[in-house]
Amino acid sequence: MALIVQKYGGSSVADAEKINNVARRIVETKEKGNHVVVVVSAMGDTTDELIQLARQINPQPEERELDLLLSTGEVVSSTLLAMALGSLGYKAVSLSGAQAGIETDASHSRARILRVEPKRIVRELGKGNIVIVAGFQGITEDMDITTLGRGGSDTTAVALAAVLKAQICEIYTDVEGVYTADPRFVPEACRLKEVGYEEMLELATYGAKVMHPRAVELGELYNMPILVASSFSDKPGTIIHGGVSMEVRNKVRGIAHDLNVAKITVVGVPDRPGIASAIFEPLAKANISVDTIVQNASINNITDLTFTVARSDLDKAMSLVEPVAGSIGARECVSDLALAKVSIIGTGMQNTPGYASTMFRALYEQGINIQLITTSEIRITCIIAEDKVKEAVRALYKAFDLEQAEA
Ligand code: ADP
Ligand code: ASP
Ligand code: MG
Repeated sequence: MALIVQKYGGSSVADAEKINNVARRIVETKEKGNHVVVVVSAMGDTTDELIQLARQINPQPEERELDLLLSTGEVVSSTLLAMALGSLGYKAVSLSGAQAGIETDASHSRARILRVEPKRIVRELGKGNIVIVAGFQGITEDMDITTLGRGGSDTTAVALAAVLKAQICEIYTDVEGVYTADPRFVPEACRLKEVGYEEMLELATYGAKVMHPRAVELGELYNMPILVASSFSDKPGTIIHGGVSMEVRNKVRGIAHDLNVAKITVVGVPDRPGIASAIFEPLAKANISVDTIVQNASINNITDLTFTVARSDLDKAMSLVEPVAGSIGARECVSDLALAKVSIIGTGMQNTPGYASTMFRALYEQGINIQLITTSEIRITCIIAEDKVKEAVRALYKAFDLEQAEA
Protein backbone atom coordinates (compact mmCIF):
# COMPACT_ATOMS: atom_id res chain seq x y z
CA MET A 1 0.00 0.00 0.00
CA ALA A 2 1.50 3.34 -1.04
CA LEU A 3 1.58 6.30 1.32
CA ILE A 4 0.69 9.74 0.01
CA VAL A 5 1.09 13.00 1.93
CA GLN A 6 -1.26 15.78 0.87
CA LYS A 7 -1.23 19.38 2.07
CA TYR A 8 -4.13 21.80 1.70
CA GLY A 9 -3.44 25.54 2.10
CA GLY A 10 -5.58 28.17 3.83
CA SER A 11 -7.73 29.13 0.85
CA SER A 12 -8.54 25.44 0.22
CA VAL A 13 -10.05 25.06 3.70
CA ALA A 14 -11.44 28.59 4.06
CA ASP A 15 -15.02 27.57 4.97
CA ALA A 16 -17.20 24.54 5.76
CA GLU A 17 -18.03 23.90 2.10
CA LYS A 18 -14.35 23.94 1.11
CA ILE A 19 -13.44 21.63 4.00
CA ASN A 20 -16.08 19.17 2.76
CA ASN A 21 -14.65 19.47 -0.77
CA VAL A 22 -11.15 18.68 0.56
CA ALA A 23 -12.57 15.69 2.48
CA ARG A 24 -14.03 14.31 -0.77
CA ARG A 25 -10.66 14.65 -2.51
CA ILE A 26 -8.93 12.82 0.34
CA VAL A 27 -11.51 10.03 0.11
CA GLU A 28 -10.72 9.60 -3.62
CA THR A 29 -7.04 9.08 -2.78
CA LYS A 30 -7.89 6.67 0.04
CA GLU A 31 -10.27 4.73 -2.23
CA LYS A 32 -7.42 4.15 -4.69
CA GLY A 33 -5.87 1.97 -1.98
CA ASN A 34 -3.41 4.45 -0.44
CA HIS A 35 -2.53 5.32 3.12
CA VAL A 36 -3.13 9.07 3.40
CA VAL A 37 -1.54 11.63 5.70
CA VAL A 38 -2.93 15.13 5.29
CA VAL A 39 -1.41 18.42 6.47
CA VAL A 40 -3.62 21.48 6.72
CA SER A 41 -3.11 25.22 7.07
CA ALA A 42 -5.37 27.47 9.11
CA MET A 43 -8.71 28.44 7.51
CA GLY A 44 -8.48 31.42 5.10
CA ASP A 45 -6.87 34.44 6.76
CA THR A 46 -7.02 33.06 10.30
CA THR A 47 -3.28 33.48 10.95
CA ASP A 48 -3.34 37.16 9.92
CA GLU A 49 -6.45 37.73 12.03
CA LEU A 50 -4.88 36.11 15.10
CA ILE A 51 -1.76 38.28 14.68
CA GLN A 52 -3.91 41.42 14.50
CA LEU A 53 -5.89 40.37 17.54
CA ALA A 54 -2.70 39.75 19.52
CA ARG A 55 -1.36 43.18 18.55
CA GLN A 56 -4.55 44.87 19.75
CA ILE A 57 -3.85 43.39 23.16
CA ASN A 58 -0.07 43.97 23.08
CA PRO A 59 1.72 45.72 20.19
CA GLN A 60 4.77 43.50 20.71
CA PRO A 61 3.45 40.17 21.90
CA GLU A 62 5.82 37.71 23.54
CA GLU A 63 6.97 35.32 20.81
CA ARG A 64 6.24 32.23 22.85
CA GLU A 65 2.66 33.30 23.46
CA LEU A 66 2.16 34.35 19.85
CA ASP A 67 3.35 30.96 18.60
CA LEU A 68 0.94 29.06 20.84
CA LEU A 69 -1.87 31.36 19.73
CA LEU A 70 -1.09 30.97 16.00
CA SER A 71 -0.82 27.19 16.28
CA THR A 72 -4.51 27.08 17.20
CA GLY A 73 -5.47 28.12 13.65
CA GLU A 74 -4.18 24.85 12.21
CA VAL A 75 -5.69 22.87 15.10
CA VAL A 76 -9.13 24.23 14.20
CA SER A 77 -8.88 23.26 10.52
CA SER A 78 -7.42 19.80 11.21
CA THR A 79 -10.15 18.85 13.67
CA LEU A 80 -12.89 20.10 11.34
CA LEU A 81 -11.40 18.14 8.44
CA ALA A 82 -11.32 14.96 10.55
CA MET A 83 -14.99 15.56 11.39
CA ALA A 84 -15.81 16.07 7.69
CA LEU A 85 -14.18 12.72 6.87
CA GLY A 86 -16.08 11.11 9.74
CA SER A 87 -19.36 12.36 8.32
CA LEU A 88 -18.46 10.75 4.97
CA GLY A 89 -18.03 7.45 6.82
CA TYR A 90 -14.20 7.39 6.93
CA LYS A 91 -12.05 6.87 9.98
CA ALA A 92 -9.83 9.91 10.56
CA VAL A 93 -7.84 11.31 13.43
CA SER A 94 -6.41 14.81 13.79
CA LEU A 95 -3.08 15.47 15.49
CA SER A 96 -1.38 18.69 16.52
CA GLY A 97 2.23 19.09 15.35
CA ALA A 98 3.41 18.04 18.82
CA GLN A 99 1.24 14.90 18.77
CA ALA A 100 2.56 14.11 15.30
CA GLY A 101 6.10 14.10 16.73
CA ILE A 102 7.46 17.25 15.09
CA GLU A 103 10.38 18.42 17.22
CA THR A 104 11.89 21.85 16.56
CA ASP A 105 14.48 24.22 17.90
CA ALA A 106 13.32 27.08 20.13
CA SER A 107 13.45 29.93 17.57
CA HIS A 108 9.88 31.08 17.97
CA SER A 109 8.12 32.25 14.79
CA ARG A 110 10.84 30.71 12.60
CA ALA A 111 11.58 27.36 14.20
CA ARG A 112 13.42 24.65 12.30
CA ILE A 113 12.41 21.02 12.43
CA LEU A 114 15.15 19.02 14.18
CA ARG A 115 13.53 15.60 14.16
CA VAL A 116 10.25 13.89 13.43
CA GLU A 117 9.23 10.94 15.58
CA PRO A 118 6.27 9.57 13.62
CA LYS A 119 5.30 6.66 15.96
CA ARG A 120 1.82 7.96 16.61
CA ILE A 121 1.14 8.60 12.90
CA VAL A 122 2.32 5.11 11.99
CA ARG A 123 0.11 3.60 14.70
CA GLU A 124 -2.95 5.49 13.45
CA LEU A 125 -2.28 4.49 9.84
CA GLY A 126 -2.00 0.88 11.03
CA LYS A 127 -5.50 1.17 12.48
CA GLY A 128 -6.78 2.22 9.05
CA ASN A 129 -7.16 5.90 9.95
CA ILE A 130 -6.62 8.84 7.66
CA VAL A 131 -4.25 11.06 9.66
CA ILE A 132 -4.74 14.83 9.61
CA VAL A 133 -1.82 16.85 10.96
CA ALA A 134 -1.98 20.53 11.92
CA GLY A 135 0.69 22.23 9.78
CA PHE A 136 3.17 25.02 10.58
CA GLN A 137 3.97 23.93 14.15
CA GLY A 138 6.11 21.78 16.36
CA ILE A 139 7.29 21.39 19.92
CA THR A 140 10.63 22.10 21.60
CA GLU A 141 12.54 19.94 24.05
CA ASP A 142 10.99 22.10 26.79
CA MET A 143 7.49 21.33 25.50
CA ASP A 144 6.90 24.85 24.14
CA ILE A 145 4.88 25.12 20.94
CA THR A 146 6.70 26.77 18.04
CA THR A 147 5.73 27.82 14.52
CA LEU A 148 7.85 27.32 11.42
CA GLY A 149 7.48 30.75 9.74
CA ARG A 150 4.71 32.04 7.48
CA GLY A 151 3.76 29.48 4.86
CA GLY A 152 5.39 26.75 6.96
CA SER A 153 2.69 24.08 6.51
CA ASP A 154 4.40 23.14 3.23
CA THR A 155 7.47 22.29 5.31
CA THR A 156 5.45 20.14 7.72
CA ALA A 157 4.13 18.20 4.71
CA VAL A 158 7.51 17.58 3.07
CA ALA A 159 9.14 16.66 6.41
CA LEU A 160 6.41 14.09 7.09
CA ALA A 161 6.61 12.75 3.53
CA ALA A 162 10.38 12.31 3.92
CA VAL A 163 10.28 10.58 7.27
CA LEU A 164 7.35 8.33 6.34
CA LYS A 165 9.00 7.55 2.97
CA ALA A 166 5.87 8.60 1.10
CA GLN A 167 5.57 8.01 -2.63
CA ILE A 168 4.95 11.72 -3.21
CA CYS A 169 4.13 14.93 -1.36
CA GLU A 170 1.18 16.73 -2.95
CA ILE A 171 0.73 20.44 -2.17
CA TYR A 172 -2.79 21.63 -3.04
CA THR A 173 -3.35 25.36 -3.29
CA ASP A 174 -5.38 28.07 -5.07
CA VAL A 175 -3.35 28.08 -8.34
CA GLU A 176 -2.78 25.24 -10.78
CA GLY A 177 0.94 24.84 -10.12
CA VAL A 178 4.16 26.82 -10.26
CA TYR A 179 4.01 29.55 -12.88
CA THR A 180 6.73 31.49 -14.68
CA ALA A 181 5.69 34.51 -12.56
CA ASP A 182 3.04 35.17 -9.91
CA PRO A 183 -0.22 34.75 -11.88
CA ARG A 184 -1.73 37.57 -9.78
CA PHE A 185 0.82 39.95 -11.33
CA VAL A 186 1.09 38.42 -14.79
CA PRO A 187 -2.25 36.85 -15.71
CA GLU A 188 -0.76 35.36 -18.89
CA ALA A 189 2.01 33.55 -16.94
CA CYS A 190 2.44 29.90 -17.90
CA ARG A 191 2.37 26.86 -15.67
CA LEU A 192 5.62 24.91 -15.57
CA LYS A 193 5.12 21.16 -16.04
CA GLU A 194 8.23 20.48 -14.00
CA VAL A 195 10.92 22.41 -12.20
CA GLY A 196 14.15 21.32 -10.46
CA TYR A 197 14.69 21.71 -6.71
CA GLU A 198 17.50 24.21 -7.26
CA GLU A 199 15.42 26.59 -9.37
CA MET A 200 12.35 26.17 -7.16
CA LEU A 201 14.41 26.96 -4.06
CA GLU A 202 15.59 30.26 -5.56
CA LEU A 203 12.05 31.10 -6.75
CA ALA A 204 10.62 30.37 -3.29
CA THR A 205 13.39 32.14 -1.37
CA TYR A 206 13.02 35.23 -3.56
CA GLY A 207 9.26 35.54 -3.12
CA ALA A 208 7.26 32.91 -5.05
CA LYS A 209 5.17 32.04 -2.03
CA VAL A 210 3.49 29.08 -3.69
CA MET A 211 6.11 26.96 -1.86
CA HIS A 212 7.86 27.56 1.46
CA PRO A 213 11.65 27.61 0.81
CA ARG A 214 12.45 25.22 3.65
CA ALA A 215 10.00 22.69 2.16
CA VAL A 216 11.91 22.76 -1.13
CA GLU A 217 15.20 22.34 0.73
CA LEU A 218 13.88 19.26 2.52
CA GLY A 219 12.46 17.91 -0.74
CA GLU A 220 15.90 18.13 -2.32
CA LEU A 221 17.66 16.68 0.71
CA TYR A 222 15.40 13.61 0.78
CA ASN A 223 14.81 13.49 -2.96
CA MET A 224 11.07 13.67 -2.38
CA PRO A 225 9.03 14.53 -5.47
CA ILE A 226 6.56 17.36 -4.77
CA LEU A 227 3.43 17.98 -6.82
CA VAL A 228 1.96 21.49 -6.69
CA ALA A 229 -1.62 21.58 -7.98
CA SER A 230 -5.02 23.19 -7.44
CA SER A 231 -7.43 21.90 -4.81
CA PHE A 232 -10.28 23.24 -6.93
CA SER A 233 -9.59 21.35 -10.18
CA ASP A 234 -8.07 18.12 -11.49
CA LYS A 235 -5.49 19.82 -13.74
CA PRO A 236 -2.05 18.16 -13.75
CA GLY A 237 -0.01 20.77 -11.78
CA THR A 238 3.79 21.09 -11.53
CA ILE A 239 6.23 18.40 -10.42
CA ILE A 240 9.26 19.59 -8.44
CA HIS A 241 11.95 16.94 -8.66
CA GLY A 242 15.61 16.31 -9.37
CA GLY A 243 15.43 14.84 -12.84
CA VAL A 244 14.56 17.88 -14.97
CA SER A 245 15.94 17.55 -18.50
CA MET A 246 18.84 19.73 -19.67
CA GLU A 247 16.79 21.27 -22.45
CA VAL A 248 14.17 22.58 -20.04
CA ARG A 249 16.88 23.81 -17.68
CA ASN A 250 18.62 25.87 -20.27
CA LYS A 251 16.86 29.26 -19.92
CA VAL A 252 15.36 31.79 -17.51
CA ARG A 253 12.60 29.76 -15.91
CA GLY A 254 10.82 32.28 -13.77
CA ILE A 255 10.52 35.73 -12.25
CA ALA A 256 10.00 36.14 -8.52
CA HIS A 257 9.15 39.24 -6.58
CA ASP A 258 9.16 39.93 -2.85
CA LEU A 259 7.63 42.87 -1.00
CA ASN A 260 8.94 41.82 2.39
CA VAL A 261 12.11 43.90 2.01
CA ALA A 262 13.66 46.66 4.10
CA LYS A 263 17.01 48.37 3.77
CA ILE A 264 19.27 49.62 6.54
CA THR A 265 22.20 51.96 5.89
CA VAL A 266 24.82 52.66 8.52
CA VAL A 267 26.20 56.02 7.39
CA GLY A 268 29.74 57.26 8.04
CA VAL A 269 31.29 54.05 9.30
CA PRO A 270 35.04 54.12 10.05
CA ASP A 271 36.76 51.76 7.58
CA ARG A 272 38.74 49.43 9.83
CA PRO A 273 38.85 45.71 10.59
CA GLY A 274 36.14 44.30 12.84
CA ILE A 275 33.40 46.80 11.92
CA ALA A 276 31.33 44.41 9.77
CA SER A 277 31.49 41.68 12.36
CA ALA A 278 30.46 44.14 15.12
CA ILE A 279 27.37 45.06 13.10
CA PHE A 280 26.34 41.62 11.84
CA GLU A 281 27.06 39.43 14.86
CA PRO A 282 24.14 40.70 16.97
CA LEU A 283 21.82 40.20 13.97
CA ALA A 284 23.01 36.61 13.53
CA LYS A 285 22.56 35.93 17.25
CA ALA A 286 18.99 37.21 17.00
CA ASN A 287 18.41 34.84 14.05
CA ILE A 288 17.77 37.73 11.63
CA SER A 289 18.92 36.88 8.15
CA VAL A 290 20.65 39.60 6.23
CA ASP A 291 20.40 39.40 2.49
CA THR A 292 22.12 41.92 0.27
CA ILE A 293 25.19 43.61 1.76
CA VAL A 294 26.93 46.49 0.01
CA GLN A 295 29.87 48.46 1.35
CA ASN A 296 30.97 51.50 -0.60
CA ALA A 297 34.64 52.21 -1.31
CA SER A 298 35.82 54.42 1.54
CA ILE A 299 36.78 58.07 1.27
CA ASN A 300 39.07 59.37 4.02
CA ASN A 301 38.61 56.04 5.79
CA ILE A 302 34.86 56.59 6.13
CA THR A 303 32.33 54.42 4.31
CA ASP A 304 28.60 53.52 4.23
CA LEU A 305 27.34 50.01 4.81
CA THR A 306 23.95 49.03 3.39
CA PHE A 307 22.09 45.75 3.81
CA THR A 308 18.59 44.34 3.54
CA VAL A 309 16.48 42.35 5.98
CA ALA A 310 12.88 41.12 5.85
CA ARG A 311 10.51 44.02 6.52
CA SER A 312 9.04 42.03 9.37
CA ASP A 313 12.50 42.01 11.02
CA LEU A 314 13.23 45.73 10.55
CA ASP A 315 12.29 47.01 14.02
CA LYS A 316 14.27 44.31 15.75
CA ALA A 317 17.24 44.78 13.40
CA MET A 318 17.30 48.58 13.95
CA SER A 319 17.14 48.13 17.71
CA LEU A 320 20.25 45.93 17.49
CA VAL A 321 22.22 47.93 14.93
CA GLU A 322 21.65 51.47 16.29
CA PRO A 323 23.58 50.98 19.55
CA VAL A 324 26.44 49.26 17.68
CA ALA A 325 26.56 52.10 15.14
CA GLY A 326 26.84 54.58 18.04
CA SER A 327 29.60 52.63 19.73
CA ILE A 328 31.75 52.32 16.59
CA GLY A 329 31.45 56.01 15.84
CA ALA A 330 29.18 55.82 12.77
CA ARG A 331 27.27 59.00 11.88
CA GLU A 332 23.72 57.57 11.76
CA CYS A 333 21.52 54.62 10.88
CA VAL A 334 18.71 55.05 8.33
CA SER A 335 16.10 52.63 7.06
CA ASP A 336 13.77 52.38 4.08
CA LEU A 337 10.67 50.18 3.99
CA ALA A 338 9.14 50.94 0.61
CA LEU A 339 11.29 48.49 -1.34
CA ALA A 340 10.85 45.26 -3.29
CA LYS A 341 13.01 42.61 -4.89
CA VAL A 342 12.59 41.35 -8.43
CA SER A 343 14.60 38.32 -9.51
CA ILE A 344 15.17 36.34 -12.67
CA ILE A 345 15.96 32.69 -12.03
CA GLY A 346 17.22 29.85 -14.20
CA THR A 347 20.05 27.35 -14.27
CA GLY A 348 20.60 28.43 -17.87
CA MET A 349 22.23 31.64 -16.61
CA GLN A 350 25.20 29.75 -15.19
CA ASN A 351 28.34 30.81 -17.06
CA THR A 352 26.30 32.56 -19.76
CA PRO A 353 26.79 36.30 -20.29
CA GLY A 354 24.05 38.72 -21.27
CA TYR A 355 21.30 38.00 -18.75
CA ALA A 356 22.23 40.83 -16.40
CA SER A 357 22.43 43.43 -19.17
CA THR A 358 19.05 42.35 -20.60
CA MET A 359 17.54 42.64 -17.13
CA PHE A 360 19.01 46.09 -16.44
CA ARG A 361 17.93 47.39 -19.86
CA ALA A 362 14.36 46.13 -19.40
CA LEU A 363 14.13 47.96 -16.06
CA TYR A 364 15.77 51.09 -17.46
CA GLU A 365 13.29 51.19 -20.35
CA GLN A 366 10.48 51.37 -17.77
CA GLY A 367 12.32 54.18 -15.95
CA ILE A 368 12.89 51.94 -12.93
CA ASN A 369 15.86 52.80 -10.75
CA ILE A 370 17.92 49.89 -9.41
CA GLN A 371 19.05 50.52 -5.81
CA LEU A 372 21.00 47.33 -5.11
CA ILE A 373 21.89 44.20 -7.06
CA THR A 374 22.69 40.68 -5.84
CA THR A 375 23.37 37.52 -7.75
CA SER A 376 23.83 33.79 -7.33
CA GLU A 377 24.94 31.40 -10.06
CA ILE A 378 21.33 30.95 -11.16
CA ARG A 379 19.71 34.24 -10.11
CA ILE A 380 19.96 38.00 -10.52
CA THR A 381 18.04 40.18 -8.06
CA CYS A 382 17.44 43.93 -8.23
CA ILE A 383 16.12 45.96 -5.33
CA ILE A 384 13.76 48.66 -6.54
CA ALA A 385 10.99 50.93 -5.24
CA GLU A 386 7.99 48.94 -4.06
CA ASP A 387 5.52 50.86 -6.22
CA LYS A 388 7.38 49.81 -9.40
CA VAL A 389 7.35 46.09 -8.75
CA LYS A 390 4.40 45.11 -10.91
CA GLU A 391 5.76 47.04 -13.90
CA ALA A 392 9.17 45.47 -13.32
CA VAL A 393 7.87 41.89 -13.23
CA ARG A 394 5.84 42.44 -16.39
CA ALA A 395 8.77 44.06 -18.22
CA LEU A 396 11.09 41.19 -17.31
CA TYR A 397 8.48 38.67 -18.32
CA LYS A 398 8.50 40.17 -21.81
CA ALA A 399 12.25 40.69 -22.00
CA PHE A 400 12.99 37.02 -21.34
CA ASP A 401 10.29 35.63 -23.66
CA LEU A 402 8.56 33.82 -20.86
CA GLU A 403 5.34 33.83 -22.81
CA GLN A 404 7.10 31.17 -24.91
CA ALA A 405 7.45 28.86 -21.86
CA GLU A 406 5.76 25.49 -22.22
CA ALA A 407 2.37 25.35 -20.55
P1 ADP B 1 -1.64 28.31 0.30
O1 ADP B 1 -2.54 29.06 1.23
O2 ADP B 1 -2.35 27.24 -0.46
O3 ADP B 1 -0.39 27.82 0.96
P2 ADP B 1 -0.19 30.56 -0.81
O4 ADP B 1 -1.00 31.83 -0.82
O5 ADP B 1 0.82 30.37 0.25
O6 ADP B 1 -1.23 29.34 -0.82
O7 ADP B 1 0.53 30.34 -2.23
C1 ADP B 1 -0.21 30.42 -3.41
C2 ADP B 1 -0.03 31.79 -4.04
O8 ADP B 1 1.32 31.95 -4.42
C3 ADP B 1 -0.80 31.99 -5.31
O9 ADP B 1 -2.12 32.42 -5.06
C4 ADP B 1 0.03 33.01 -6.08
O10 ADP B 1 -0.51 34.31 -6.03
C5 ADP B 1 1.37 33.03 -5.34
N1 ADP B 1 2.51 32.88 -6.25
C6 ADP B 1 3.61 33.69 -6.25
N2 ADP B 1 4.48 33.31 -7.21
C7 ADP B 1 3.93 32.24 -7.83
C8 ADP B 1 4.37 31.40 -8.91
N3 ADP B 1 5.53 31.60 -9.52
N4 ADP B 1 3.55 30.39 -9.29
C9 ADP B 1 2.37 30.18 -8.68
N5 ADP B 1 1.90 30.94 -7.65
C10 ADP B 1 2.67 31.96 -7.22
N1 ASP C 1 -1.20 29.48 8.51
C1 ASP C 1 0.19 29.77 8.34
C2 ASP C 1 0.34 31.05 7.54
O1 ASP C 1 -0.64 31.69 7.19
C3 ASP C 1 0.98 28.63 7.73
C4 ASP C 1 0.60 28.23 6.33
O2 ASP C 1 -0.45 28.65 5.82
O3 ASP C 1 1.36 27.45 5.73
O4 ASP C 1 1.44 31.47 7.29
MG1 MG D 1 1.49 28.72 1.39
